[in-house]
Amino acid sequence: MDISQTNLDLLRELIAEPGQKMVILSHTNPDGDAVGSSIAWATALRRVGHSVTCIVPTKYPYYLDWMTGIRDIVIFKNDAEGRAAKAVAEADVIFCLDFHSLSRLDTLGDMIAANTTAKRVLIDHHLNPTEKFDVMFSHPEASSTSYLVYKLIEALWGAESVTAEQAEVLYVGMMTDTGNFSFSTLTPDLYRSLAVLAATGIDIPQIHNNVYNSFTEGRARLFGYTINRKMKLLRKGTVAHMSLTEEEMRRFWFQQGDSEGFVNYPLTIKKMRMSAIFIEHKDFIRVSLRSRGAVDVNTFAARYFEGGGHHNAAGGKSFVSMPETIARFEAAVEEYAKEGLL
Ligand code: 5GP
Ligand code: MN
Repeated sequence: MDISQTNLDLLRELIAEPGQKMVILSHTNPDGDAVGSSIAWATALRRVGHSVTCIVPTKYPYYLDWMTGIRDIVIFKNDAEGRAAKAVAEADVIFCLDFHSLSRLDTLGDMIAANTTAKRVLIDHHLNPTEKFDVMFSHPEASSTSYLVYKLIEALWGAESVTAEQAEVLYVGMMTDTGNFSFSTLTPDLYRSLAVLAATGIDIPQIHNNVYNSFTEGRARLFGYTINRKMKLLRKGTVAHMSLTEEEMRRFWFQQGDSEGFVNYPLTIKKMRMSAIFIEHKDFIRVSLRSRGAVDVNTFAARYFEGGGHHNAAGGKSFVSMPETIARFEAAVEEYAKEGLL
């Protein structure tokens, strides 16, 4: 991955004057990469004398609670004291990490749009960023934003500046966004970066355990139910979809984050090419999509579900009922197949 020298110089200039107020934002339903990249970048900026507030629109999943520094992140939805609004209004620089469109911030996006004085920097790996930024590190070829943040830290302050605390959260982001290093672009340089993180002495099996083996009993039972009872196969078993209503999730003592990863499971079936899950929320249905190889779910999400993401992992929203959402998905699959895209 080549980071543009021009952009790097612009960034260096932007953060050169110490004592600035900075905000780091990441997306709704923040995942390991959103949180990991935010914490590591905040630590780096604080070390060179800036005051930094990390903000996410909604809470992160409970299995990330153990991460050092995660409690300092302001959750906009629960922010009764107005810390987020104050930080955004006063910000000299706003960093947008791990998302490409203000729509991924829900109502927090309006607040960001209203601030016209702060400089804006994008650090992201999603396709087709839609907003204007003063400096833009947009690298869809990067397997995670955490990897991108590592590369920036390395370029600005050297690999030896990375502490074990930073390494731990960066590792979480790199691990979760690549499905524990099983998909996405796994380049030799990613492994060189991982070697630097490992050399700080982080406990990799422990990190793995904290993230992947810390779920509730309810999640295990909900998973079994979803695969056994709710997975429907289409097109000779090459496309799968699953759905969960609020009532079904309540039955299994659902906590936010419990359905994370379910959508990947149908792809363990040999001939599967695309998988979808529909999760009911109060005002809409969240759509998650995964695919193998040439099947492009980024385009599919943009075309049919007002969303986007990556080539093999994308998401969007549906504002009609669950049966209508499923019918719409099934019709979209047929249309996509007819065009030779599936
Ligand atoms: P997940 O299925 O894990 O929630 O999301 C997979 C990918 O799709 C992520 O990279 C995420 O950023 C993207 N994505 C999920 N939901 C949306 C959405 O509503 N809009 C857009 N543009 N991207 C989304
Ligand atoms: Mn990411």
